[in-house]
Amino acid sequence: MKAQPTASHFIDGAYVEDTAGAVIDVIYPATGAVIARLHEATPALIDRALAAATRAQGQWAATRPVERARILRRAADMIRDRGEELAQLETLDTGKPVQETRVADWPSGADALEYFAGLAPTVTGETIPLGGDFVYTLREPLGVCVGIGAWNYPSQIACWKSAPALAFGNAMVFKPSEVTPLGALKLAEIYIEAGLPAGLFNVVQGRGAVGGALVTDPRVAKVSLTGSVPTGRKVYAAAAEGMRHVTMELGGKSPLIIFDDASLEDAVGAAMMANFYSAGQVCSNGTRVFVQKGIKDAFLSRLKVRAEAMVLGDPLDDATQMGPLVSDVQLAKVMGYIDTAKTEGARLVTGGARAALNTGYFVQPTVFADVTDDMTLAREEVFGPVMAVLDFDTEEEAITRANATEFGLAAGVFTADITRAHRVIGQLQAGTCWINAYNLTPVEAPFGGMKASGVGRENGHAAVQHYTQVKSVYVGMGPVDAPY
Ligand code: NDP
Repeated sequence: MKAQPTASHFIDGAYVEDTAGAVIDVIYPATGAVIARLHEATPALIDRALAAATRAQGQWAATRPVERARILRRAADMIRDRGEELAQLETLDTGKPVQETRVADWPSGADALEYFAGLAPTVTGETIPLGGDFVYTLREPLGVCVGIGAWNYPSQIACWKSAPALAFGNAMVFKPSEVTPLGALKLAEIYIEAGLPAGLFNVVQGRGAVGGALVTDPRVAKVSLTGSVPTGRKVYAAAAEGMRHVTMELGGKSPLIIFDDASLEDAVGAAMMANFYSAGQVCSNGTRVFVQKGIKDAFLSRLKVRAEAMVLGDPLDDATQMGPLVSDVQLAKVMGYIDTAKTEGARLVTGGARAALNTGYFVQPTVFADVTDDMTLAREEVFGPVMAVLDFDTEEEAITRANATEFGLAAGVFTADITRAHRVIGQLQAGTCWINAYNLTPVEAPFGGMKASGVGRENGHAAVQHYTQVKSVYVGMGPVDAPY
């Protein structure tokens, strides 16, 4: 199986190769086979990408918003028309089952292109009367934006970052994670075919150092990163040197609080979606499942039955519900967390081992009960199919414990009591919350974290502020009143 792209990078409207860059082998996580070989961007290529973006951006900013919108909408249609081909490529790049990549990854990306195409012509300033004189404001693009992606939703991330950037008149240089470099190249191809002028969306491959070079380049006005908290800290600090705008979409250890009165089947289903979708490699996952004591036993026994019925296997098979982890590195990390949970006294309910498949980085859907707040499993982001179930007595206790973390990305509440649902959500320190649902992230809704989980928001109207800046213009209508 091969998924070799035309070349490693896409710069100024065309594929570009430079074999002088260090090799990046792309591994299909279900087999461990090398499916493509790419090269990291050399400093010369990074410079070319930034130069192309800088050159193209001025003209693009002067293009009517409806014209920018038309191109983005055309690209969204092309993504949908090629849905199956793109889903398969995403599966090869990430190991996620086609069951997911057909409905979640590129489709969510296409939604973002369509959504921001719709918003582009609505972005306007305001007029502020001053009794004769007045001020008007303009919302202007930032300039050249850098997007840096994580490996868990590579194509969605490329779309979520580039769509608002382009819609509002910016250019972008995007660096995918070196673990999943393929989808962003397809997006660059599609943009060009949809009519986007060359140079506005460029893809350069590489590891952290390539990202680092982009973040500190004087031509860059903004950096949007999706990644872990430690990387976020580094990138935020580097961007601050140049006073650059940032969006930081980072990790989490999000609470999902299930009260006694919740629908059992819905709560179990949501907890599974919140821990096993994409083999648990989702930043907003509800990985601390707080279950009220009255429902705990019923919850765990139903969860065990449903988790053990999950179908693991070949991600390209329509029937497969869960694929492997993205890499051998991630596999080792997740197995380490499972071992630590056992050592620290968590009770294994199901799973807890590598899945009995002959190849690939598969881990069984795993549930630990009787997890306490001090255990590593309750404190650190695992990024694998490992659910920690903690129990609680009172609402106040659940809120206090849910907030006792440096993270603040997401949170969920399951209860039949609507006033309690809103009361609890009102006290949770998380940027993205759900009531009687979990992990649904429509592009219409702002997405992002509080506390160490991030800065800024993607999607929704909120994204306008993060890809534009305000210019305020004072207009004098009378004589200048100078005291000299
Ligand atoms: P990392 O933080 O390891 O990497 C993220 C990206 O940053 C990668 O492209 C990486 O390159 C790059 N990078 C690493 N170091 C630097 C640097 N010094 N300067 C610039 N760029 C750098 O995250 P993962 O790829 O491992 O993704 C998993 C993490 O992402 C999890 O913590 C998860 O929670 C988070 N995430 C957050 C989401 C959100 O929206 N809040 C959504 C999805 C994931 P390379 O990998 O090539 O080294």
